[in-house]
Amino acid sequence: MSEKKDIRSLSKEDLREFFLEHDQKAFRGNQVYEWLWHKGAHDFDSMTNISKETRQFLEDHFVINHIEVDDMQQSSDGTIKNAIKLHDGLIVESVFIPTPTRTTACVSSQVGCSLNCTFCATARLKKMRNLNPDEIYDQVVAIDRQSRVYKGHKLNNIVFMGMGEPLLNYKNVLKSIEMITSDEGLGMSPRRITLSTVGLHKMIMKLADDEVKFNLAVSLHSAINEVRSKMMPINDKSTLEDLLHSLQYWYAKTNKVITFEYVVWKGINDKKKDIDALVAYCKKVPSKVNLIEYNAIEEDGFEQADPAAIAYYQRELERNQITVNIRHSRGKDIDAACGQLANKTTV
Ligand code: SAH
Repeated sequence: MSEKKDIRSLSKEDLREFFLEHDQKAFRGNQVYEWLWHKGAHDFDSMTNISKETRQFLEDHFVINHIEVDDMQQSSDGTIKNAIKLHDGLIVESVFIPTPTRTTACVSSQVGCSLNCTFCATARLKKMRNLNPDEIYDQVVAIDRQSRVYKGHKLNNIVFMGMGEPLLNYKNVLKSIEMITSDEGLGMSPRRITLSTVGLHKMIMKLADDEVKFNLAVSLHSAINEVRSKMMPINDKSTLEDLLHSLQYWYAKTNKVITFEYVVWKGINDKKKDIDALVAYCKKVPSKVNLIEYNAIEEDGFEQADPAAIAYYQRELERNQITVNIRHSRGKDIDAACGQLANKTTV
């Protein structure tokens, strides 16, 4: 028996054609599409304006693969880490981050990661596969529900800062964003979405060419090639110079300021030369800097820099008119903070 196709891999046009080919009205395709995305149906039986026979007919041809929230852990600060079970049993994590003024979903784009950043827990999980658009979309739907339950309002922001490298799953990530922002999906504004990348220059150029409307964040961590390459091996292939060109191109095309994510580690990038290099780099492209607190990973030997070094970074950036924010971690007690997503609840 051949395996049934996941119906959410079909476009609206595909669905319309499917019905036509089976001697039914094409508009049924629109109705089913609305159930699948806008109404988030996870089974055919809930499609109440579709006849029983048609629902059975769909059931005979398709499945609706969907995620399950397998486990939820709540931090003392209100952050919730969700272990998300995929249809094939693999697990990813997504995080609900509430603040007094807004809520944010941090979603995963791949199962595991292939990039081997030395300081990141996800890097220790082998990359198993890319997530499908619906699997990313479902994470947002699940966290939107949590936002409504725990904070009484809909989800405000989405960051692609969970497991995986979103630009290595380009097509599916963009498709998921299309559905998240479309009125046929969740109707959220792309301005509330931020995609974070290790900085793959060719893919950043492609994003610019595709004229995307969401925000871009780059995990920089150092503006000196030798230092960055040690922390992020991808820097050998996509150097700071390549990255800079792609970001200048991005800005020229989108007019959107780039956010650099930056952790300051003791003895690694906490010296004057590191700060000077960052300031010089930031001056070459409209950008701001988020100094992120380091979340220790077991036995990795890294240590957060002294507060004085971080304050020095802040002062120097500000002195050079570069916007800088200090980002404190959320959900640390449940390993839900940046770089801590490693399916610990399940191993
Ligand atoms: N692959 C993408 C998406 C992951 S985002 C990217 O690298 O941007 C996860 C963010 O957390 C990245 O900015 C990453 O550099 C940062 N991070 C990883 N490990 C961390 C750790 N142990 N402490 C603090 N931040 C970390």
